[in-house]
Amino acid sequence: MEPSTPFVDRPPHSRRRFLELAGSAVALAATAGCASAGSRSTSASTMVASDVGFGERFDPWIEIDRAAYRQNVREAARLAGGRPILAVVKNNAYGLGDEAVGPLLASFPEVGGIACVRVEEAVAMREAGVTKPIVVMSEEPEDAIVEMVHHNVLPSVWLDDALARLERVARRLGRRVPVQLFIDTGMNREGMPFRRARPWIEEMCASDSVEVDGTYTMFSHDLDFDREQLARFEAILAWARDGELDLGTLHASPTVELFHLPEAHYDMVRPGNALFGNYPSGEGVRDRADLRPVFRLRTRVARVERLETGDSAGFYRSFTPERPTWIALLPIGRTDGYPSAANETCEVLIKGRLYPVKGGVNSAHAIIEIGEEKTVSVGDIATLVGSDHPSILPHEVARRTGTSFLALIQGMNPRLPRRVV
Ligand SMILES: *Cc1c(COP(=O)(O)O)cnc(C)c1O
Repeated sequence: MEPSTPFVDRPPHSRRRFLELAGSAVALAATAGCASAGSRSTSASTMVASDVGFGERFDPWIEIDRAAYRQNVREAARLAGGRPILAVVKNNAYGLGDEAVGPLLASFPEVGGIACVRVEEAVAMREAGVTKPIVVMSEEPEDAIVEMVHHNVLPSVWLDDALARLERVARRLGRRVPVQLFIDTGMNREGMPFRRARPWIEEMCASDSVEVDGTYTMFSHDLDFDREQLARFEAILAWARDGELDLGTLHASPTVELFHLPEAHYDMVRPGNALFGNYPSGEGVRDRADLRPVFRLRTRVARVERLETGDSAGFYRSFTPERPTWIALLPIGRTDGYPSAANETCEVLIKGRLYPVKGGVNSAHAIIEIGEEKTVSVGDIATLVGSDHPSILPHEVARRTGTSFLALIQGMNPRLPRRVV
């Protein structure tokens, strides 16, 4: 993909700028053939992984499933009535790895842009080849805003002193600063509180230092209160229209509201969870979209040994089989993100068969029982979490280990190499 026109070089203020750029990215992806466009991640971790060759390594890795992301993005776009998706890839892609996931998501024509919360994430994804718009959904100090503008990344603003900061940035750079305005409609986490937003918005729109690229809010997921929030947002939008203030691209809906609040889909939707296959709560959500797990946690069998009667394995002899059995060592543990509560509760898939975790999940090692017959060998691939069997689905592993899907993936070690398959 060719680099997109930097926001700052675009012609002076024009409505729906984000969407125009997203639209050209869509066209570009379509003509380039989206299968190839951006399909190869250039991230360091991904390159290291393929350079050493997954065939040789025992140590764990995370596979990112392109086809599953492809499917989830299509489903999200369908729920959004074809509106573009501002794909949330925050917190290291919720643990799955932003340098692999960001470029992958950006390669799909339905994705109009990427949103994250840290400047470093945005820069890392730019450097990993993302050319579509990137929004940082946090308020940042002056130097960070300068850095974002240099990387063609859209800052968000909501603090009372934002304009003064943007004016200083504009003076330093000798140009307008494109921004997204974040309005707090009642969640009271981030955003300019709606009750005093109007004069603040007016000043932003009037300033020569600022280019309002978009305006958004965030919902609380309480559907009754969501409607109240929506009414508050709508009141601001109506007031802005009356005053001919251009608020740019409008967006509001994360996964819960993507499913449950279609009247809040605006110009684009802003899901994260749905894209990696996590359904919101609510009746019938599984009938409305077919979302897939997007990753596998894998490693290779590093050792296979036979235990005789009376032998034991693990700390404090935690596994003491009553009859001879084979065991295998997996060089993966809780520092990699595999929960220690998987011991005695979870199974591991090797060559199509499930084997129980016995003998402990330690910091970097797990022991599994193979059984009377030696059916696995050193070097076999073991899948601990993935879509290949109901027993190892992320939701199922989370349930068995007393955690949640989100907590499970957020606990994945950022140093594990990611491979897009
Ligand atoms: C995390 C986040 C999202 C995405 O939410 P999901 O529940 O993952 O879909 C959207 N907008 C904001 C402001 C967020 O912080």
